[in-house]
Amino acid sequence: MRTITLIIVHCSANKAGSTLRLTDIDRYHRSMGWKECGYHYVIPTDGTIEAGRPEAVVGAHCRNHNRHSIGVCYIGGLATDGKTPADTRTEKQKIALKKLLCKLHKRYPKALIVGHHDLNPMKACPCFDAASEYHAKR
Ligand SMILES: [Zn+2]
Repeated sequence: MRTITLIIVHCSANKAGSTLRLTDIDRYHRSMGWKECGYHYVIPTDGTIEAGRPEAVVGAHCRNHNRHSIGVCYIGGLATDGKTPADTRTEKQKIALKKLLCKLHKRYPKALIVGHHDLNPMKACPCFDAASEYHAKR
C-alpha cells in the first residue's frame, strides 16, 4: 500500500440538487482520457458512499498531491445559479462524509483531513472549511 498523508475533500462543482452519481463522474473523467473516475469516493446527494478508484491506486484529483492522498468528492458545491461556490451538502451527505472520513482516518491515522482549497487557494473547492470541520472529530 502507498503512504497516505492527506485525505482531500472535494466538491464536484455541480449546482445544488444535482442528481449526478459516481457513474456520471466516471463517464466524465473517462471522456477526458483518464482511465476511470479520479476520486476514490463520491457521495451523491442521497448520502450513498460510492467507491471509485481503489485506495491502493493513485488518484487524479489534486495536482501535486495525488501520490500520497485519498480523494473524496461530494456532488454539489455551486449555488442554483450554477456558478457561485456554495456549501450545498445535504444532511445525508454531511452524515456520509463524516462516516467516511472517520473510517479513512482510522485506516490512515497520520493523514491530515483537508479541503482542496487548503492545498490550492485558487480553488474554492470544496466550498466549506473541511480542515476545521473535521479536525474536532479525530
Ligand atoms: Zn477539488
